[in-house]
Amino acid sequence: MTLVACLLTGAERAAIASIGLAGANASQVIAGCFRAASGSEILVNQIRYGTVGDESIVVTRLPDRDGDQRWELHCHGGAAAAAQILADLAAAGVTIVDHDVWLARDGKTLLQCEAIDVLARTVTARTAAIALDQARGAVEDFVDQSLATLRNADSKSIEIVKSQAVHILRFENIGLHLAAPWRVVLAGKPNVGKSSLVNALVGYRRSITFDQPGTTRDVLHADAVIDGWPIRLSDTAGIRHDATDKIESEGIDRAQAVIGHADLVVWVEDVRDWKPVNALPSMLTGKSCLQVVNKVDLAAAQTQRSANLPVMTSAIRDGGIETLRHAILLKLVPCSPSPGDAVPINPRQVDCITLIKAARSVFEIEAILHNLKGKSMAAP
Ligand code: GDP
Repeated sequence: MTLVACLLTGAERAAIASIGLAGANASQVIAGCFRAASGSEILVNQIRYGTVGDESIVVTRLPDRDGDQRWELHCHGGAAAAAQILADLAAAGVTIVDHDVWLARDGKTLLQCEAIDVLARTVTARTAAIALDQARGAVEDFVDQSLATLRNADSKSIEIVKSQAVHILRFENIGLHLAAPWRVVLAGKPNVGKSSLVNALVGYRRSITFDQPGTTRDVLHADAVIDGWPIRLSDTAGIRHDATDKIESEGIDRAQAVIGHADLVVWVEDVRDWKPVNALPSMLTGKSCLQVVNKVDLAAAQTQRSANLPVMTSAIRDGGIETLRHAILLKLVPCSPSPGDAVPINPRQVDCITLIKAARSVFEIEAILHNLKGKSMAAP
């Protein structure tokens, strides 16, 4: 594979998209397809404005490495421009490769490749900062420091490494949600105000609200960002067991399926039906749940002020919505990492670090750490 190119930026629409090109004759490819606005030669670390086909781009020549000439092409951030340039490069004989192939060819370690892959798929500055810390080697530092600690080969060093592993695993859920949003499902009987609450949380009218049970017939999703965390809110058909309408029953089945995959279920009740003794329905057993009592604007004032109540909201009066956002976050992200903290960002890393907790010998932990780093351990 002498000539390769890869889309370096994420798949989402952005201000610019960047494409990397590398290979022994990469400069020849650029000379063949890039029309510079000014005709002078492009030296290493210089940039030039020009076009590839109909697309306006800026190219940069990077220093050669390991016999590769290396270039970066920066174009409009919509998907069409990058796709057109990649097609032009492919027509010029360049092999278009995925991120992991590109990064491995670039000499990146497995942990760096995994982190950069996640970084490219983050959608908020907060999640990107955590992924960037991992790309800069936070988990790698944990591995190296642990291996150094284990050189003492005593039970104390085992305990130190294990307690570090426990500390890191507190961020497991965050790591697994850097590139995939948390799934929060609003469920409850028809007409309690689930759609209205989604609208209030998101800040725009995503669901139809209508004063007749059964209006939300399917599961509607709305992507939101709360305090820098990406959250997908799902607004389900009201759960009631006497649904006669076939379409409504189908909606309820889908709601139950989506509840099964939820990270958090917000169970909504109408204040006029709510009593402190109301229990959650059995289908929510074992799920992380948050109880919300809505339409408090229709209830007596003292009901809203009693102690130990669920979150009380009025979706149409914007009452308690900030408290609800806060309560959702407390459930999803009870503790967040400090800058530079190691965070496991995929199931492979979580599995390795979990194994450290249960390991018994120095040798066993060393083997897991090497595995986490992506290198098999040399025979003792
Ligand atoms: P869903 O079936 O649970 O999704 O309920 P909707 O969000 O469609 O709301 C049903 C009806 O209750 C609509 O007429 C809403 O305007 C109304 N509603 C929703 N939230 C509130 C609230 O907090 N207070 C009052 N008074 N009405 C509400």
